[in-house]
Amino acid sequence: MAIRNIVTSEDPILSKPCRTVEEFDDKLGQLIDDMFETLEKAKGLGLAAPQVGILKRVFVMDVGDGRVEAVNPVILKESGKQRDVEGCLSCPNQWGYVTRPNKCRLRAYDRHGKEFTMDLKELGCRCACHETDHLDGLLFTRLVDEFVQMEDA
Ligand SMILES: [Zn+2]
Repeated sequence: MAIRNIVTSEDPILSKPCRTVEEFDDKLGQLIDDMFETLEKAKGLGLAAPQVGILKRVFVMDVGDGRVEAVNPVILKESGKQRDVEGCLSCPNQWGYVTRPNKCRLRAYDRHGKEFTMDLKELGCRCACHETDHLDGLLFTRLVDEFVQMEDA
């Protein structure tokens, strides 16, 4: 496993749409392992493949309920609303309020190509929506209705 470099918002790769994963091979497994390690090191909640320079529809997240890996994710059945402060590992020192659905269903594949669905709420839902947006080249800063200052932890 290896820590990968996280690209920041100036990088044009972050505004490009990602390709659907068709090969569920060792290389994909390696990418996912590296992304989990990179996420942990960066102390983030979620990380999408374009953030490590790979234009593939893959994200990983861990909001405290265990690791989730999502290949070719789709957000289904959104409901409710939540408005809270959001940040992004690719946008250091940028924080702002984003309104997201409060609940959603995530449908995706794991590294072996096995399909799964998962019901998410609150922070888990926010994170899955944020990461899925990355795969369409959308940064959270475009959704912010009010930027805020936060002290560095
Ligand atoms: Zn992000």
